[in-house]
Amino acid sequence: MSKILSINAGSSSLKFKLYSMPAEVVLVSGLVDRIGHDDCIFSYHVGSKEYKSTQPIKNHTEGVKLVIDALLDSGVIEDKSEIIGVGHRVSHGGRYYTKSVEINHDVQQKIADLASVSPLHNPVNLLGIEAFEKLLPSAKEVAVFDTSFHSTIPPKAYMYALPYEYYEKYGIRRYGFHGQSHQYIYSEVNRRYGKDYSDKVISCHLGNGASICAIKNGKSVNTSMGFTPLAGLVMGTRSGDVDPNILPFLAEKEHLSANDIRQMLNHKSGLLGISGISNDVRDILKAESAGNQRAKLALAVYVHQIQHYIAAYTADLNGIDTLVFTAGVGEHSAPIRHRVCAGLTYLGVKIDESANKDNDIDISEADSRVKVLVIPTDEELIIARETAKIIG
Ligand code: ADP
Repeated sequence: MSKILSINAGSSSLKFKLYSMPAEVVLVSGLVDRIGHDDCIFSYHVGSKEYKSTQPIKNHTEGVKLVIDALLDSGVIEDKSEIIGVGHRVSHGGRYYTKSVEINHDVQQKIADLASVSPLHNPVNLLGIEAFEKLLPSAKEVAVFDTSFHSTIPPKAYMYALPYEYYEKYGIRRYGFHGQSHQYIYSEVNRRYGKDYSDKVISCHLGNGASICAIKNGKSVNTSMGFTPLAGLVMGTRSGDVDPNILPFLAEKEHLSANDIRQMLNHKSGLLGISGISNDVRDILKAESAGNQRAKLALAVYVHQIQHYIAAYTADLNGIDTLVFTAGVGEHSAPIRHRVCAGLTYLGVKIDESANKDNDIDISEADSRVKVLVIPTDEELIIARETAKIIG
């Protein structure tokens, strides 16, 4: 039995879970939120007990110290050395990493180099890695990349039709993200329903960020995010796919710099951009019920784009056995699942409305040709599994 920490470091947050492996039992789970503020909120669960405190936390290193102290104080560990591995979610592995890897200085340097293509995520992932290196040097650290699960996507699906030299020079191609989530979804479909339902799986990760993945016999064969996590679906504040010529057009008309355009596409677009209300599906559904026409339009575009990707990936897979909804919207929003599935009857998708309202796991009608599932994602478990595998 060994203890492994699973870490997901964001710009102002640090999510963690301590697992006992190989049993995959969660010993502690928690969140350090609002890092960099005077009112940082630290919360964690040990069994059914919840602990919460507010204090100033300057940086990720202080956040990690808080986590380790809490593990010791709560008696979950008696000594830091009991934690033999720390697995980190790392956004972009680029062309360097098709698998999870034990972290050393070379790996850290490559993760840092990839900040040029993943400026929002790789640098903060690195902050988490450096903090543990400092405070828990006895543990081996492992990087589990969002992009690795998609390394099986064939060239016909990952190449962009741009001059080939940019692929060679900068590695410009589709990489895909949310790999830990799509990998977990596949493993759960396979574990629960076996091979008959897991040959051709389409996994819809609909959170604030969103992506869809086509999975054939356990391998990603296409996914909607691309070179960066901006492509594909309409997201909370990200545009998803747009005609690339819109960008130089706007740059000229509105005198926007490359950075202005990046900000607009990542933070002012998506559901927020169309509705002008919020990035949160709940707020937009409420506004739509109150008669707001832009809210109605935003949801229509959102659902339409999801349906398009499901149709495209059914073609990539030459069929579909199972359609899965996961992440914030996918797990909790019955109206969105209803609307998406209402446009898929030609595939033989039929959902049981009462199971859908109850967020049941299997929401398909008995005679649906496609199994339709709602599965809560568990990226942290994939990080712990990969870490255990690497450190042996
Ligand atoms: P992230 O992508 O940041 O990890 P999550 O997967 O937790 O986020 O998803 C967050 C989003 O889930 C919220 O922005 C909100 O739009 C959506 N969400 C959460 N609960 C519900 C709900 N009950 N109904 C509709 N949408 C929901």
